[in-house]
Amino acid sequence: MNANIPIDPYLPKPVTIRKISIENEARDLKTFELVFCNKEDEENFNFTCGQFAILSVFGAGESPIGIASSPLDDEYIQFTVKRYSTGVVTTALHNLEEGARIGIRGPYGNSYPLKEMEGKNVLIVGGGFAFTTLRSTIRYMLHQKNRSRFKNITVIYGARSPGELIYKSELNEWEERDGIDMYITVDNGADNWGGRVGFVPTVLKEVAPSSENAISLVCGPPIMLKYTMTPLIDLGFTPERIITSLERRMSCGIGKCGRCNISSKYICQDGPVFSYKQIQELSEPLF
Ligand SMILES: Cc1cc2nc3c(=O)[nH]c(=O)nc-3n(C[C@H](O)[C@H](O)[C@H](O)COP(=O)(O)OP(=O)(O)OC[C@H]3O[C@@H](n4cnc5c(N)ncnc54)[C@H](O)[C@@H]3O)c2cc1C
Repeated sequence: MNANIPIDPYLPKPVTIRKISIENEARDLKTFELVFCNKEDEENFNFTCGQFAILSVFGAGESPIGIASSPLDDEYIQFTVKRYSTGVVTTALHNLEEGARIGIRGPYGNSYPLKEMEGKNVLIVGGGFAFTTLRSTIRYMLHQKNRSRFKNITVIYGARSPGELIYKSELNEWEERDGIDMYITVDNGADNWGGRVGFVPTVLKEVAPSSENAISLVCGPPIMLKYTMTPLIDLGFTPERIITSLERRMSCGIGKCGRCNISSKYICQDGPVFSYKQIQELSEPLF
């Protein structure tokens, strides 16, 4: 390669869709397992939990999507994507089949504070399909290389109905194994559902995890975030120790286009991960 020609930061790298898994009953959430077409691109794609990438479907466009697999899943990268009925890129992506080729650029954004989480109890609170990057973090913490670096891991995760819970077989595995306490809940039960029914913030209050030496990662729809903050504060989690990930419409992913800013912050570069304290300091209410 000619060293004088700058590398175009918008140039997507080719990846093949190795596997597609349908995650929910509504069939509008699919997990795409991608493998790089070129070894060099694979080696250069080093990400950490909480980051996102920009996926491109040729002829349709690009979309930022959080990375759902763990950095230690070294054979593939996974993304769980919701198809919007009016969504150009997400619909085009959902229409593809295994073996299709798409583009990827990134990884972008900051990450969850993994170093700060070491030696602490970690509380994960998730709702709906925003669970993706939390799932990446759980996989990372549970990996045999890492498990001893984190203390108790508690997960409270909810969806609207049993059919909308994602990563079901993995949730079952985590429920069975030691070293992680799982509290799965749904807003509305179903005939075949013997589990918990209740909103995530309500379950959080019931479980009441200790905030001592603990940090919490929270991701979900704005309404869930809004009603989760007060119970967390009441449990003693200070705003610095409540970490969340924000989503905004964005285009370039690299702080150039100015589409995703909130006050002085660019979600693509300063985020998407922010502490609740940082969010409180922004001039506009976010949830
Ligand atoms: C950092 C980050 C991480 C993300 N991670 C994921 C993920 O893991 N999985 C996932 O499914 N999606 C994720 N998203 C959202 C995803 O980028 C959008 O849903 C996608 O770009 C929509 O593209 P589209 O072309 O299908 O829709 P468009 O044709 O662009 O829009 C379709 C409709 O969706 C609305 N819309 C599109 N994007 C957004 C948005 N970000 N917020 C609110 N409304 C929007 C539009 O207003 C329009 O009504 C993430 C977004 C960001 C910024």
